[in-house]
Amino acid sequence: MKAVLVGVGQAGGKLTTALSEFDAEMGFGAIRDAIAVNTATADLEPLPLDTVLVGQSRVNGHGVGGDNELGAEVMDEDSIEVLDAVAPRVTADVEAIVVVAGLGGGTGSGGAPVLVRELSRVYDVPVYALGVLPGRDEGAMYQVNAGRSLKTLVREADATILLDNDAWRSSGESVEGGYAAINESMARRVGLLLAAGEATQGVGESVVDTSEVINTLRAGGMAAVGYGSAPAGEDAGDNVNTVTSTVRSAVMTGLSLPSATTADAGLVVIAGDPERISRKGAEKARKWLQEETGSMQVRGGDFPLDSDRLAAVVLLTGVERSDRIEAFLERARQAIRDEPEEEPDAAEAFQNDEIDDLL
Ligand code: GDP
Repeated sequence: MKAVLVGVGQAGGKLTTALSEFDAEMGFGAIRDAIAVNTATADLEPLPLDTVLVGQSRVNGHGVGGDNELGAEVMDEDSIEVLDAVAPRVTADVEAIVVVAGLGGGTGSGGAPVLVRELSRVYDVPVYALGVLPGRDEGAMYQVNAGRSLKTLVREADATILLDNDAWRSSGESVEGGYAAINESMARRVGLLLAAGEATQGVGESVVDTSEVINTLRAGGMAAVGYGSAPAGEDAGDNVNTVTSTVRSAVMTGLSLPSATTADAGLVVIAGDPERISRKGAEKARKWLQEETGSMQVRGGDFPLDSDRLAAVVLLTGVERSDRIEAFLERARQAIRDEPEEEPDAAEAFQNDEIDDLL
């Protein structure tokens, strides 16, 4: 899928950079271009991307300090500048635009849903969101912001791929300390998914096409991406179990949104040397995923890559009914209930309608 990425906020900019670097290192060329948007000059400066500073007249390059309502207002006021920066990058061959943001902060949390809405007005290609959910140990403000942002994002975007910071928390390591590793790991999943339909070698019947990724995402709502890999035996015949077990581990331990295994649709991509990909294994894995997710529609295909390993990338869409999302929403509701008195109107509206009608 030839995509243009727009990172909003600090996490958005860093994750967009990680994705662009992964795509370039692998030589995929799926990410056609990428920019970063922020209200804070200091967060834009270290990024190796073209950047757009918004909200200058309001916050003078100092950021919105976790105020996602201000983040949304600023994006609303300055969206023309962002659209102008995006326009020359969305060439005729671009198949999707992906807006990337951390949902717990201010600029990305408030700005991403507004930007997705504006981009959807202008472009016919799908506009997807890639949103980072705060870990359960992050403060109440992050949970509240993310709950609000998620609701709007899911409504505005063609699909919202979620990455849960808790999915990568290794014991004893703080979320903050592990960002670089988390971002790389997230970039691998999403980078492979975007590149899956772009294979240039060994194109055959079983090779996955971009349209299959787009059609799987068409189910809309929330999505998760899993990844697993293992060394491959020499021949396809040796790799029946390798294929089934990598798909299983992509879903059971490698999902960007852990335990989000109730899904409306799925896609299983097996990446590796086509000579070593077991058709029987791929078919078995697809059937297993159908049963595991309760989804009638699980697509599948190969992503030919020159490697002595086999990898599985699994996309699940319509995961909003999963326990993980319910747990996150409960955290957000609780944080709202515990919120100090300021902004009673917004908090009340959120608590009564917004989160509840999400599901
Ligand atoms: P903004 O700049 O106002 O949009 O705020 P941030 O992007 O810093 O959003 C804060 C949220 O993003 C928190 O939940 C953080 O845990 C998360 N976050 C910040 N930086 C990163 C990062 O580099 N990677 C990941 N995965 N999450 C991040």
